[in-house]
Amino acid sequence: MIELFSTERLKSLLPQYKDFVEKELFPIDLSVLKDDWQTAFIMLKAKREKAKKLGLWAPYLPEVEGGLGLTMAEFGQISEILGTSPLGHYVFNCQAPDIGNIELMHQFASDTLKERFLHPLMAGEMRSCFGMTEPELAGSNPVHLATTAELVGEEWVLNGHKWFTTAADGAAFCIVMAVTDPEADAYQRASMLLVPTDTPGFELVRNISIMGDEGGGYFSHAEILLKDCRIPKSYLVGAQGDGFSMAQRRLGPGRIHHCMRWIGICERAFNMMCDRAQTRELNPGKPLSGQQTIQNWIAESRAEIDAARYMVLHTAHKIDQEGSKAAKIEISTIKFFVADVLMKVLDRAVQVHGALGITDDTLLSFWYRHERGARIYDGPDEVHKSSLAKAILKERTAKQQAS
Ligand SMILES: Cc1cc2nc3c(=O)[nH]c(=O)nc-3n(C[C@H](O)[C@H](O)[C@H](O)COP(=O)(O)OP(=O)(O)OC[C@H]3O[C@@H](n4cnc5c(N)ncnc54)[C@H](O)[C@@H]3O)c2cc1C
Repeated sequence: MIELFSTERLKSLLPQYKDFVEKELFPIDLSVLKDDWQTAFIMLKAKREKAKKLGLWAPYLPEVEGGLGLTMAEFGQISEILGTSPLGHYVFNCQAPDIGNIELMHQFASDTLKERFLHPLMAGEMRSCFGMTEPELAGSNPVHLATTAELVGEEWVLNGHKWFTTAADGAAFCIVMAVTDPEADAYQRASMLLVPTDTPGFELVRNISIMGDEGGGYFSHAEILLKDCRIPKSYLVGAQGDGFSMAQRRLGPGRIHHCMRWIGICERAFNMMCDRAQTRELNPGKPLSGQQTIQNWIAESRAEIDAARYMVLHTAHKIDQEGSKAAKIEISTIKFFVADVLMKVLDRAVQVHGALGITDDTLLSFWYRHERGARIYDGPDEVHKSSLAKAILKERTAKQQAS
């Protein structure tokens, strides 16, 4: 682990998380992913209780809320360990989109919403989802939304169409981004509203099949219709018209969480690749690992994973010191860089496993299928690369003009 970003409490915590994930989750994760959600849930519930008893629950929460009050750089390193199993984040209540909704509601929700929804969410008694993206409009432009929320008397009336609402199946509520002020400036038109999923007019149309896998419960992405869906006026989260700026704040830390989770996936896939390379013999006594191409993949993967980790922890450290806004460009940089490292490492690991790599007999196919989205969600690669390039060019121009 990286000494530069290590702290006393991490020295004690990291081995505890590693031990739990490797002893409790590694033996079951492949089979749990093949179970239907109801069956998987029973097993996961027992593991969650155990995590709570050990005092390892939701480490990112402030201490007053029952968490460990970690910095972003500290939590990032735990997130990497959790990411080595597809069950890790869920078992410790650190999973997206709940973690983002928890952080958001913590800052912006009213006391009543906190008591009714945030506290049970933090305790793992309910799940939530986040509905921003719409099938008809480009999600890459976050201010381009058709879903509306109109204030009629004491109620908001919502109408719209959402999709890729992760984990909506079985969620108790959805934080919906909707246009509340159509005449306002593009960045002040939308607000966030908390919609309980049992509200009449909230319709889960389907779980979307991702490369042949619909999933279920937490492991799913839904299409949602909102038809004259009425919620109390007080279910607005934050101020009216602040939806866009709140979404931006939600995404900064979220990208650290995702990047560190991806590094965890890379580490497990890397280990699987090395194991296979050392045990698969092309001829008796001639393992795959003797081939230079395979050695190149091992060396390149090691270097890329380590580089990715340093970049993410450096960004997390900057967020801790100066806030998300100051680290905006670093956040964009790690988002596309680490997603690319993840794709390369997973692809090499699949290739080294040969035909076995594309079966569902190892975790590689689950990650290959479900993590392809890493280059798309939370802003596609192209958007982040454009932000980085523009910032570099702007700085150059400013320097040239000053000299
Ligand atoms: C696994 C997964 C989970 C998700 N979970 C959620 C969720 O919980 N809630 C939610 O609201 N949304 C969620 N999303 C949706 C996600 O946020 C959007 O897919 C994303 O914002 C991109 O929007 P889009 O799919 O409409 O693509 P589009 O905006 O149509 O873009 C398509 C492609 O165009 C290119 N492109 C876009 N902009 C530019 C540009 N400026 N320059 C050059 N090229 C560009 C990119 O290659 C991009 O992939 C999820 C998506 C995935 C894949």
